[in-house]
Amino acid sequence: MTFINKWLRADIQDIKAYHVPKSEHMIKLDAMESPFLIPKDLVKSYLTYLSEVPLNRYPDAGAEEVQQALRSLMDIPDKLGVLLGNGSDELIQLVSLACETGDTVLSVEPSFVMYEMIAKFTRLNYQGVLLDDNYEINLNGVLEEITRTQPKLIFIAYPNNPTGNAFDRESILAIIKESEALIVVDEAYYAYSEGSFLNEVANYPNLVLLRTISKMGFAGLRLGLLIGSQNTIRELDKLRLPYNINTLTQASANFLLKEKDHIIANANIIIDERQRLFDELTAMPGLKVFPSQANFLLIKVDDAKSLFEFLKSNGILVKSFTMNPQLSNCIRLTVGNPSENNEFLEQIKNYYG
Ligand SMILES: *Cc1c(COP(=O)(O)O)cnc(C)c1O
Repeated sequence: MTFINKWLRADIQDIKAYHVPKSEHMIKLDAMESPFLIPKDLVKSYLTYLSEVPLNRYPDAGAEEVQQALRSLMDIPDKLGVLLGNGSDELIQLVSLACETGDTVLSVEPSFVMYEMIAKFTRLNYQGVLLDDNYEINLNGVLEEITRTQPKLIFIAYPNNPTGNAFDRESILAIIKESEALIVVDEAYYAYSEGSFLNEVANYPNLVLLRTISKMGFAGLRLGLLIGSQNTIRELDKLRLPYNINTLTQASANFLLKEKDHIIANANIIIDERQRLFDELTAMPGLKVFPSQANFLLIKVDDAKSLFEFLKSNGILVKSFTMNPQLSNCIRLTVGNPSENNEFLEQIKNYYG
Protein backbone atom coordinates (compact mmCIF):
# COMPACT_ATOMS: atom_id res chain seq x y z
CA MET A 1 0.00 0.00 0.00
CA THR A 2 1.37 3.39 -0.92
CA PHE A 3 1.53 6.29 1.49
CA ILE A 4 -1.32 8.10 -0.14
CA ASN A 5 -3.62 5.07 -0.05
CA LYS A 6 -3.12 4.81 3.68
CA TRP A 7 -3.51 8.51 4.16
CA LEU A 8 -6.37 9.59 1.90
CA ARG A 9 -10.07 9.51 2.80
CA ALA A 10 -11.48 6.20 1.56
CA ASP A 11 -14.41 7.83 -0.24
CA ILE A 12 -12.01 10.00 -2.24
CA GLN A 13 -9.93 6.96 -3.20
CA ASP A 14 -13.09 5.38 -4.59
CA ILE A 15 -13.86 8.32 -6.87
CA LYS A 16 -13.12 8.08 -10.56
CA ALA A 17 -11.30 11.31 -11.43
CA TYR A 18 -13.06 13.69 -13.80
CA HIS A 19 -11.73 12.58 -17.15
CA VAL A 20 -10.71 15.06 -19.84
CA PRO A 21 -9.84 13.27 -23.11
CA LYS A 22 -6.93 14.33 -25.32
CA SER A 23 -8.10 16.57 -28.12
CA GLU A 24 -5.06 17.84 -29.99
CA HIS A 25 -5.74 18.30 -33.70
CA MET A 26 -9.34 17.19 -33.26
CA ILE A 27 -12.60 18.96 -34.08
CA LYS A 28 -13.63 19.41 -30.48
CA LEU A 29 -17.36 18.93 -30.04
CA ASP A 30 -17.34 17.30 -26.62
CA ALA A 31 -17.27 20.03 -23.98
CA MET A 32 -19.86 22.69 -24.92
CA GLU A 33 -17.21 25.23 -25.71
CA SER A 34 -17.95 28.06 -28.10
CA PRO A 35 -16.12 27.67 -31.43
CA PHE A 36 -15.51 31.42 -31.69
CA LEU A 37 -12.23 33.14 -30.86
CA ILE A 38 -12.12 36.80 -29.90
CA PRO A 39 -12.71 39.12 -32.87
CA LYS A 40 -9.55 39.71 -34.93
CA ASP A 41 -9.90 43.49 -34.84
CA LEU A 42 -9.83 43.45 -31.03
CA VAL A 43 -6.72 41.36 -30.55
CA LYS A 44 -4.24 44.23 -30.67
CA SER A 45 -6.04 46.53 -28.27
CA TYR A 46 -6.77 43.58 -25.97
CA LEU A 47 -3.07 42.71 -25.78
CA THR A 48 -2.15 46.33 -25.12
CA TYR A 49 -4.73 46.42 -22.35
CA LEU A 50 -3.33 43.23 -20.82
CA SER A 51 0.23 44.50 -21.00
CA GLU A 52 -0.67 47.35 -18.65
CA VAL A 53 -2.06 45.08 -15.96
CA PRO A 54 -0.09 45.14 -12.66
CA LEU A 55 0.83 41.47 -12.25
CA ASN A 56 3.00 42.26 -9.23
CA ARG A 57 -0.13 43.12 -7.25
CA TYR A 58 -2.91 40.92 -5.97
CA PRO A 59 -6.09 41.19 -8.01
CA ASP A 60 -8.95 43.52 -7.09
CA ALA A 61 -10.43 41.45 -4.26
CA GLY A 62 -14.04 42.34 -4.96
CA ALA A 63 -13.58 42.34 -8.75
CA GLU A 64 -16.02 45.24 -8.92
CA GLU A 65 -15.45 46.07 -12.56
CA VAL A 66 -15.99 42.44 -13.58
CA GLN A 67 -19.22 42.40 -11.61
CA GLN A 68 -20.39 45.47 -13.48
CA ALA A 69 -19.42 43.96 -16.82
CA LEU A 70 -21.41 40.81 -16.02
CA ARG A 71 -24.38 42.80 -14.75
CA SER A 72 -24.64 44.71 -17.97
CA LEU A 73 -23.93 41.69 -20.20
CA MET A 74 -26.60 39.62 -18.44
CA ASP A 75 -29.06 42.41 -17.49
CA ILE A 76 -28.83 41.58 -13.80
CA PRO A 77 -30.97 43.99 -11.70
CA ASP A 78 -29.01 46.26 -9.31
CA LYS A 79 -31.02 45.07 -6.33
CA LEU A 80 -29.60 41.54 -6.64
CA GLY A 81 -26.20 40.48 -5.33
CA VAL A 82 -23.49 38.81 -7.42
CA LEU A 83 -20.76 36.46 -6.18
CA LEU A 84 -17.93 35.56 -8.56
CA GLY A 85 -16.26 32.18 -8.83
CA ASN A 86 -13.27 30.68 -10.59
CA GLY A 87 -15.70 28.96 -12.93
CA SER A 88 -19.19 28.13 -11.72
CA ASP A 89 -17.77 24.82 -10.48
CA GLU A 90 -16.11 26.77 -7.71
CA LEU A 91 -19.48 28.24 -6.75
CA ILE A 92 -21.06 24.77 -6.63
CA GLN A 93 -18.29 23.94 -4.18
CA LEU A 94 -18.86 27.16 -2.24
CA VAL A 95 -22.59 26.60 -1.67
CA SER A 96 -21.84 22.97 -0.79
CA LEU A 97 -19.26 24.11 1.78
CA ALA A 98 -21.95 26.33 3.30
CA CYS A 99 -23.91 23.21 4.35
CA GLU A 100 -23.36 21.20 7.52
CA THR A 101 -21.43 17.93 7.23
CA GLY A 102 -23.91 15.18 6.42
CA ASP A 103 -26.62 17.45 5.00
CA THR A 104 -28.36 16.20 1.89
CA VAL A 105 -27.91 17.63 -1.59
CA LEU A 106 -30.60 16.74 -4.09
CA SER A 107 -30.58 16.87 -7.85
CA VAL A 108 -32.24 15.14 -10.75
CA GLU A 109 -30.57 12.51 -12.95
CA PRO A 110 -29.05 12.53 -15.40
CA SER A 111 -27.64 15.97 -14.84
CA PHE A 112 -24.33 17.74 -14.30
CA VAL A 113 -21.97 15.29 -12.60
CA MET A 114 -20.17 17.89 -10.50
CA TYR A 115 -23.17 18.27 -8.16
CA GLU A 116 -22.63 14.73 -6.91
CA MET A 117 -18.83 14.80 -7.00
CA ILE A 118 -18.62 18.04 -5.03
CA ALA A 119 -21.21 16.74 -2.53
CA LYS A 120 -18.82 13.91 -1.87
CA PHE A 121 -15.77 16.19 -1.58
CA THR A 122 -17.61 18.34 0.95
CA ARG A 123 -18.96 15.42 3.02
CA LEU A 124 -22.60 15.81 2.06
CA ASN A 125 -25.10 13.08 1.19
CA TYR A 126 -26.17 13.14 -2.41
CA GLN A 127 -29.66 12.13 -3.45
CA GLY A 128 -30.57 11.88 -7.14
CA VAL A 129 -34.14 11.61 -8.44
CA LEU A 130 -34.47 10.10 -11.90
CA LEU A 131 -35.98 12.17 -14.68
CA ASP A 132 -38.87 10.54 -16.52
CA ASP A 133 -38.62 8.93 -19.98
CA ASN A 134 -38.84 12.34 -21.66
CA TYR A 135 -36.07 13.72 -19.41
CA GLU A 136 -38.66 15.84 -17.61
CA ILE A 137 -38.70 16.36 -13.83
CA ASN A 138 -40.72 13.74 -11.97
CA LEU A 139 -42.29 16.32 -9.67
CA ASN A 140 -44.02 13.88 -7.34
CA GLY A 141 -40.82 11.89 -7.02
CA VAL A 142 -38.82 15.02 -6.20
CA LEU A 143 -41.39 16.27 -3.67
CA GLU A 144 -41.42 12.86 -1.97
CA GLU A 145 -37.64 12.88 -1.69
CA ILE A 146 -37.76 16.42 -0.33
CA THR A 147 -40.12 15.24 2.41
CA ARG A 148 -38.05 12.14 3.08
CA THR A 149 -34.52 13.57 3.02
CA GLN A 150 -35.06 17.26 3.88
CA PRO A 151 -32.30 18.43 1.53
CA LYS A 152 -30.34 21.55 2.38
CA LEU A 153 -29.39 22.23 -1.20
CA ILE A 154 -31.07 21.42 -4.54
CA PHE A 155 -29.37 21.82 -7.92
CA ILE A 156 -31.46 22.14 -11.07
CA ALA A 157 -29.67 22.74 -14.35
CA TYR A 158 -31.89 24.85 -16.61
CA PRO A 159 -31.43 23.91 -19.45
CA ASN A 160 -30.18 20.54 -18.29
CA ASN A 161 -26.81 19.01 -19.16
CA PRO A 162 -26.55 16.43 -20.76
CA THR A 163 -30.15 16.20 -21.95
CA GLY A 164 -30.41 19.75 -23.36
CA ASN A 165 -34.03 20.39 -22.45
CA ALA A 166 -35.29 23.15 -20.16
CA PHE A 167 -37.53 21.56 -17.54
CA ASP A 168 -41.14 22.54 -16.95
CA ARG A 169 -41.12 25.93 -15.16
CA GLU A 170 -44.08 25.10 -12.95
CA SER A 171 -42.30 22.03 -11.60
CA ILE A 172 -39.26 24.11 -10.69
CA LEU A 173 -41.42 26.77 -9.05
CA ALA A 174 -43.23 24.06 -7.07
CA ILE A 175 -39.87 22.74 -5.82
CA ILE A 176 -38.79 26.26 -4.82
CA LYS A 177 -42.06 26.79 -2.94
CA GLU A 178 -42.28 23.35 -1.31
CA SER A 179 -38.70 23.11 -0.06
CA GLU A 180 -36.71 24.92 2.59
CA ALA A 181 -33.51 24.11 0.73
CA LEU A 182 -31.41 26.67 -1.09
CA ILE A 183 -32.40 26.04 -4.71
CA VAL A 184 -29.59 26.62 -7.19
CA VAL A 185 -30.95 26.99 -10.72
CA ASP A 186 -27.88 26.46 -12.88
CA GLU A 187 -28.22 28.52 -16.05
CA ALA A 188 -24.88 27.66 -17.65
CA TYR A 189 -26.67 27.64 -21.04
CA TYR A 190 -28.86 30.71 -20.59
CA ALA A 191 -27.43 32.31 -23.74
CA TYR A 192 -29.01 29.55 -25.85
CA SER A 193 -32.26 29.22 -23.94
CA GLU A 194 -35.64 30.89 -24.26
CA GLY A 195 -36.34 30.82 -20.54
CA SER A 196 -34.59 32.02 -17.39
CA PHE A 197 -35.37 32.35 -13.68
CA LEU A 198 -33.57 35.69 -13.38
CA ASN A 199 -36.83 37.54 -12.86
CA GLU A 200 -37.87 35.10 -10.12
CA VAL A 201 -34.81 35.57 -7.88
CA ALA A 202 -36.30 38.63 -6.16
CA ASN A 203 -39.52 36.69 -5.44
CA TYR A 204 -38.00 33.74 -3.57
CA PRO A 205 -35.40 34.16 -0.82
CA ASN A 206 -34.33 30.51 -1.21
CA LEU A 207 -33.58 30.82 -4.95
CA VAL A 208 -30.15 31.60 -6.39
CA LEU A 209 -28.99 31.43 -9.98
CA LEU A 210 -25.70 30.09 -11.23
CA ARG A 211 -24.23 31.33 -14.50
CA THR A 212 -20.92 31.13 -16.29
CA ILE A 213 -19.20 32.65 -19.29
CA SER A 214 -17.68 29.26 -20.16
CA LYS A 215 -20.34 28.21 -22.64
CA MET A 216 -20.43 31.54 -24.48
CA GLY A 217 -16.88 31.96 -25.67
CA PHE A 218 -14.72 32.25 -22.57
CA ALA A 219 -14.22 28.79 -21.08
CA GLY A 220 -10.51 29.53 -20.71
CA LEU A 221 -11.08 32.47 -18.40
CA ARG A 222 -12.78 30.41 -15.67
CA LEU A 223 -15.41 32.87 -14.52
CA GLY A 224 -18.81 32.05 -13.10
CA LEU A 225 -21.31 33.90 -10.96
CA LEU A 226 -23.96 33.27 -8.37
CA ILE A 227 -26.90 35.67 -8.39
CA GLY A 228 -29.13 36.04 -5.37
CA SER A 229 -30.54 38.47 -2.83
CA GLN A 230 -28.01 40.91 -1.38
CA ASN A 231 -28.34 39.18 2.02
CA THR A 232 -27.71 35.71 0.67
CA ILE A 233 -24.74 36.82 -1.38
CA ARG A 234 -23.20 38.81 1.48
CA GLU A 235 -23.25 35.76 3.77
CA LEU A 236 -22.03 33.26 1.17
CA ASP A 237 -19.22 35.63 0.22
CA LYS A 238 -17.56 34.78 3.55
CA LEU A 239 -16.68 31.37 2.08
CA ARG A 240 -14.97 32.75 -1.00
CA LEU A 241 -11.19 32.53 -0.98
CA PRO A 242 -9.57 35.95 -1.27
CA TYR A 243 -8.51 36.90 -4.80
CA ASN A 244 -10.24 33.89 -6.37
CA ILE A 245 -10.60 35.73 -9.69
CA ASN A 246 -7.09 36.26 -11.00
CA THR A 247 -5.83 39.48 -12.53
CA LEU A 248 -5.63 38.20 -16.11
CA THR A 249 -9.19 36.87 -15.94
CA GLN A 250 -10.42 40.15 -14.49
CA ALA A 251 -8.67 42.23 -17.10
CA SER A 252 -9.84 39.96 -19.91
CA ALA A 253 -13.42 39.97 -18.70
CA ASN A 254 -13.41 43.74 -18.25
CA PHE A 255 -12.21 44.19 -21.79
CA LEU A 256 -14.00 41.40 -23.64
CA LEU A 257 -17.42 41.32 -22.00
CA LYS A 258 -18.09 44.85 -23.23
CA GLU A 259 -18.62 43.28 -26.66
CA LYS A 260 -22.22 42.41 -25.83
CA ASP A 261 -23.52 42.65 -29.41
CA HIS A 262 -20.78 40.38 -30.59
CA ILE A 263 -21.37 37.82 -27.86
CA ILE A 264 -25.10 37.76 -28.62
CA ALA A 265 -24.47 37.49 -32.36
CA ASN A 266 -22.23 34.47 -31.79
CA ALA A 267 -24.88 32.84 -29.59
CA ASN A 268 -27.42 33.40 -32.35
CA ILE A 269 -25.19 31.67 -34.88
CA ILE A 270 -25.04 28.67 -32.55
CA ILE A 271 -28.82 28.69 -32.11
CA ASP A 272 -29.29 28.66 -35.91
CA GLU A 273 -26.70 25.92 -36.32
CA ARG A 274 -28.40 23.89 -33.58
CA GLN A 275 -31.62 24.03 -35.58
CA ARG A 276 -29.84 23.06 -38.80
CA LEU A 277 -28.14 20.08 -37.12
CA PHE A 278 -31.40 19.09 -35.46
CA ASP A 279 -33.27 19.12 -38.79
CA GLU A 280 -30.60 17.26 -40.72
CA LEU A 281 -30.09 14.63 -38.05
CA THR A 282 -33.80 14.14 -37.48
CA ALA A 283 -34.20 13.41 -41.18
CA MET A 284 -31.72 10.54 -40.92
CA PRO A 285 -33.11 7.09 -40.17
CA GLY A 286 -31.79 5.27 -37.13
CA LEU A 287 -31.24 8.29 -34.87
CA LYS A 288 -33.30 10.15 -32.34
CA VAL A 289 -32.38 13.75 -31.62
CA PHE A 290 -33.73 15.34 -28.45
CA PRO A 291 -34.92 18.96 -28.51
CA SER A 292 -32.34 21.32 -27.02
CA GLN A 293 -32.27 24.77 -25.46
CA ALA A 294 -28.50 24.59 -25.06
CA ASN A 295 -25.44 24.65 -27.33
CA PHE A 296 -25.43 20.89 -27.73
CA LEU A 297 -27.67 18.07 -28.89
CA LEU A 298 -28.26 14.71 -27.26
CA ILE A 299 -28.57 12.04 -29.93
CA LYS A 300 -29.65 8.43 -29.44
CA VAL A 301 -28.07 6.05 -31.93
CA ASP A 302 -27.89 2.31 -32.45
CA ASP A 303 -24.39 1.89 -31.05
CA ALA A 304 -22.90 4.97 -29.38
CA LYS A 305 -19.53 3.39 -28.69
CA SER A 306 -18.99 2.39 -32.28
CA LEU A 307 -20.10 5.80 -33.61
CA PHE A 308 -17.89 7.55 -31.06
CA GLU A 309 -14.86 5.52 -32.18
CA PHE A 310 -15.66 6.09 -35.85
CA LEU A 311 -15.91 9.85 -35.34
CA LYS A 312 -12.76 9.88 -33.25
CA SER A 313 -10.79 8.04 -35.89
CA ASN A 314 -12.01 10.70 -38.32
CA GLY A 315 -10.83 13.55 -36.12
CA ILE A 316 -14.09 14.48 -34.38
CA LEU A 317 -14.45 14.33 -30.62
CA VAL A 318 -17.94 14.05 -29.10
CA LYS A 319 -19.09 12.77 -25.73
CA SER A 320 -20.42 9.26 -25.50
CA PHE A 321 -22.38 7.97 -22.51
CA THR A 322 -21.70 4.31 -21.99
CA MET A 323 -22.29 3.72 -18.29
CA ASN A 324 -25.64 5.42 -17.67
CA PRO A 325 -28.72 3.30 -18.54
CA GLN A 326 -30.86 6.44 -18.92
CA LEU A 327 -28.48 7.60 -21.63
CA SER A 328 -27.74 4.26 -23.22
CA ASN A 329 -26.41 4.65 -26.75
CA CYS A 330 -26.50 8.43 -26.52
CA ILE A 331 -23.87 10.83 -27.70
CA ARG A 332 -23.74 14.51 -26.85
CA LEU A 333 -22.70 16.79 -29.67
CA THR A 334 -21.60 20.34 -28.99
CA VAL A 335 -22.78 22.69 -31.73
CA GLY A 336 -19.66 23.92 -33.51
CA ASN A 337 -19.10 26.54 -36.16
CA PRO A 338 -20.75 25.91 -39.56
CA SER A 339 -17.75 24.16 -41.09
CA GLU A 340 -17.22 21.91 -38.06
CA ASN A 341 -20.90 21.00 -38.14
CA ASN A 342 -20.68 20.24 -41.86
CA GLU A 343 -17.76 17.94 -41.19
CA PHE A 344 -19.73 16.19 -38.45
CA LEU A 345 -22.75 15.76 -40.73
CA GLU A 346 -20.59 14.37 -43.50
CA GLN A 347 -18.94 11.87 -41.16
CA ILE A 348 -22.15 10.68 -39.55
CA LYS A 349 -23.67 10.22 -43.01
CA ASN A 350 -20.61 8.19 -44.00
CA TYR A 351 -21.05 6.09 -40.89
CA TYR A 352 -24.67 5.34 -41.64
CA GLY A 353 -24.16 5.28 -45.41
C1 LIG B 1 -20.36 23.46 -17.99
C2 LIG B 1 -21.27 23.51 -16.83
C3 LIG B 1 -20.91 24.13 -15.63
C4 LIG B 1 -19.48 24.52 -15.31
O1 LIG B 1 -19.12 25.68 -15.80
P1 LIG B 1 -17.74 26.39 -15.43
O2 LIG B 1 -18.16 27.79 -15.20
O3 LIG B 1 -16.88 26.21 -16.63
O4 LIG B 1 -17.17 25.76 -14.18
C5 LIG B 1 -21.86 24.24 -14.63
N1 LIG B 1 -23.08 23.74 -14.78
C6 LIG B 1 -23.46 23.12 -15.90
C7 LIG B 1 -24.83 22.57 -15.99
C8 LIG B 1 -22.56 22.97 -16.95
O5 LIG B 1 -22.94 22.29 -18.04
